[in-house]
Amino acid sequence: MKTMDFTNQRILITGGSRGIGRATAIAFAEAGARVALNFHSDKQAATETIEAMPGLGHFAVRADISQPESVQQLVEAVVQEMGGLDVLVNNAGVFFPHPVDRSSYTEWQQAWEKTIGINLMGAANASYCAAQHMIKQGGGRIVNVSSRGAYRGEPEQPAYGASKAGLNALSQSLAQALAPHHIFVGAVAPGFVATDMAKPWLDGEQGEAIRQQSPTGRVAKPEEIAHGILFLASEESQFTTGCVLDINGASYLR
Ligand code: NAP
Repeated sequence: MKTMDFTNQRILITGGSRGIGRATAIAFAEAGARVALNFHSDKQAATETIEAMPGLGHFAVRADISQPESVQQLVEAVVQEMGGLDVLVNNAGVFFPHPVDRSSYTEWQQAWEKTIGINLMGAANASYCAAQHMIKQGGGRIVNVSSRGAYRGEPEQPAYGASKAGLNALSQSLAQALAPHHIFVGAVAPGFVATDMAKPWLDGEQGEAIRQQSPTGRVAKPEEIAHGILFLASEESQFTTGCVLDINGASYLR
């Protein structure tokens, strides 16, 4: 049995320029896939990621995933360039504080709009656009990058927790809706991962306490999340459809 072989598979990763998206892009390329990676603001990081990927034909596309028209244009451009789409990874995300007891009402609304717009609406719209092509071509996989925060709560970033809980529900609903089309949908739910997003927390005074949340005494490496994403996207994992895979070093057990 061949596992984790993505030879000739066509992959789109949102937010693929840095962090988990970057590690996932490299892992797919190492497994033989052709990868389109989306970025928003950091073209330099996107270029460096492309350069770090083995194989040919990888490319980067700028798009703000919170804008529905941009998402549609992104998916259309990728499908046209690659001749189809086998795997969509909804990875783009933001995480920033907006505590209910220390934010103005305006700040609160802006935080919810931005977080839900990128983390949940972006994924919903990319899934819709990708699914139209996957249905026509007879199959595909969608993997969503969720978070432990969906279950554990995010007291300082409540919109983030809500966006990821919504993303889990989206994954499960689409798993049911799309299985008859041979499209399989899953999610990974990491705890803290050593990326730019988590750096202010991991380098801050709570850093050691965060690492000790796991009995391993550390947080995840981006490559460990990429491994879970490839697992869910692999041909052999079809029957995991609808699952949310915890990758948190036993820091939170549900
Ligand atoms: P990161 O290092 O901050 O990278 C975020 C990525 O998202 C970048 O590629 C960024 O692109 C992209 N992005 C942000 N806003 C975007 C937008 N509007 N449109 C398109 N792309 C956008 O974050 P990360 O830690 O790798 O996180 C990746 C995913 O894992 C997120 O969904 C996050 O919620 C989830 N996650 C992370 C952790 C953690 O501890 N790090 C834990 C659980 C879940 P540009 O750089 O080009 O702007």
